[in-house]
Amino acid sequence: MPEVPATPPSTLVRARHIAMQEGLQFVYTGNVRHREGDTSYCPHCHATLIERDWYQIVQYRLTPAGHCPDCGAQVAGRFDGQAGNFGRRRIPVPINSV
Ligand SMILES: [Zn+2]
Repeated sequence: MPEVPATPPSTLVRARHIAMQEGLQFVYTGNVRHREGDTSYCPHCHATLIERDWYQIVQYRLTPAGHCPDCGAQVAGRFDGQAGNFGRRRIPVPINSV
């Protein structure tokens, strides 16, 4: 849809804040560079758990069992003991092969 302008980043940030005010715990801005909006925070003590810069993980603080290291809260999801190294890269998706 090239005729539709891109959503302004400020709209994405505002939508993220609205979702969090409504009680969603893990809301991300996505597809824009927004460090705060790319970061996962502890739903209990709000400590930084996974800090991302675009697709690069710059800080990974979850315990191997998926707990916050500061307050011990269990974080929903499945986690590895350490951050992966996915980084920035493109992965081709064959959309005509199905
Ligand atoms: Zn915590």
